[in-house]
Amino acid sequence: MDGGDTLEFRTEAHASPVSAADRDVLLVDPGFGKVFTDHMAVVRFSREKGWHDAQITARAPIPMDPATAVLHYAQEIFEGMKAYRLADGGAALFRADANARRFAQSAERMAMPPVPEALFLDSVRKLVAIDRDWIPHGEGGALYLRPFMFASEVFLGVRPSNEYLFIVIASPVGAYFKGGAKAISLGVSRHYTRAAPGGTGAAKCGGNYASSLIAQAEAVRQGCDQVVFLDAAEHRWVEELGGMNTFFVFDDGSISTPPLEGTILPGITRESIIKLAHDEGLTVREERYSIDQWRADATSGRLTEAFACGTAAVVTSIGVVQDEGQSFTIGSGGPGQLTEKLRARLVDIQRGLAPDPHNWVERL
Ligand code: PMP
Repeated sequence: MDGGDTLEFRTEAHASPVSAADRDVLLVDPGFGKVFTDHMAVVRFSREKGWHDAQITARAPIPMDPATAVLHYAQEIFEGMKAYRLADGGAALFRADANARRFAQSAERMAMPPVPEALFLDSVRKLVAIDRDWIPHGEGGALYLRPFMFASEVFLGVRPSNEYLFIVIASPVGAYFKGGAKAISLGVSRHYTRAAPGGTGAAKCGGNYASSLIAQAEAVRQGCDQVVFLDAAEHRWVEELGGMNTFFVFDDGSISTPPLEGTILPGITRESIIKLAHDEGLTVREERYSIDQWRADATSGRLTEAFACGTAAVVTSIGVVQDEGQSFTIGSGGPGQLTEKLRARLVDIQRGLAPDPHNWVERL
C-alpha cells in the first residue's frame, strides 16, 4: 500500500452499554480524559504485510504480552485533536490533515512506519461517524480524539519493532476552564529540561511526557498551574509548557513565539494563531526569547500579554511567572485583550460561527 491509499475497514457496530439518557448526563460535565466513547479504530502493521486488518470495533482492553516492546523501550507516539459540535448541530474536524502530517513526522523520528495520511484520516473520520452522539453540545465541549501507535512486537532486543498497532480512541471533554477565561501561573523549571538538540522534542512521543511529569509536579507544589521549560543547552531561552506553546505580546502590537528548532512541538494551534495574527495585520516574529528578557519586559511594561496555546486549553493568558523563588506579573495578571481576541477568532472558526478563510474546518 502506498502513501495515498487507505484500507477497507471491517466495522462491528457495538450497542452502547450506556443509555442515551445516561450519555447525555455524562456529557454535561465530562471533565478531561475520563469518559470514553463506545468504539475504537484499530489498524495493524507488520514488516511482511504492511498496514492491514483495519477495524472499527467495540472499545476494549488490548491484551499484551509482558515482553511487548513498547513496555520496555517506549517506542510510542500519539496525537491530540478534537471533533467539534457546530452551531447548527453538525460536527466537524479542525485541521485533521495537520495532525496526520505531524503523526507521520513523529513516526519517522521514532523509527516507526508512518501511517499514510489517508489511512489516519479515514480512521479518525470513521470513529467520529460511529460515535457522533458522544460529541458534547455544550459551550466549550468537544470530542477529544487520541490517535496513537506503539511497538507491539513481543521481543526484548533493542531495535525498532517489526510490528505496530495504530489505534484511535475518543473521549468527550468539557470546557477546559469553567466559568470563563482566567490567566494561569507558570513555574520556571531551572533544573529539569524537556528536550535537547538532536533529541525528540519535536516528536509527540510518550517519553517526552514521562520525563516532564516531575517538573510539572514541582511547579504544582510551588502553587503554579503549569511548568515552563527552558532550553537544555543554556538554560536561558523560553521553550514551551508541558503541553502548550507560548506567545508574547508587546506594547507595539507585535507578537513573538519561540522558533521551531527541533526542541519544541510544532503546535497546530501555534501555527493557526500565527496565521490569524497575520490576518489581523499583526507582526509575528518566530524568535528566541530569554527568561531574563521576559522578566525585564514584564516589569517595564514593554510586554503587555503572554499566552499559552494548544488543542486542550485552546488559548490561555499567562498571568504570573515564578522563577527561582521570585515572581513577576504580566500586564494586569488577568486575561489579556489581544489574547482573548485571538482565542475568540479561533474558537469561532472551529465552531462554524465565523467564515473559515483558510479551509481549516471539515464538516463531517
Ligand atoms: N507542546 C506540547 C508539548 C504539547 O503536548 C502540545 C499539545 N499537543 C502543544 C505544544 C500544542 O500543540 P497543538 O496546538 O497541536 O495541540
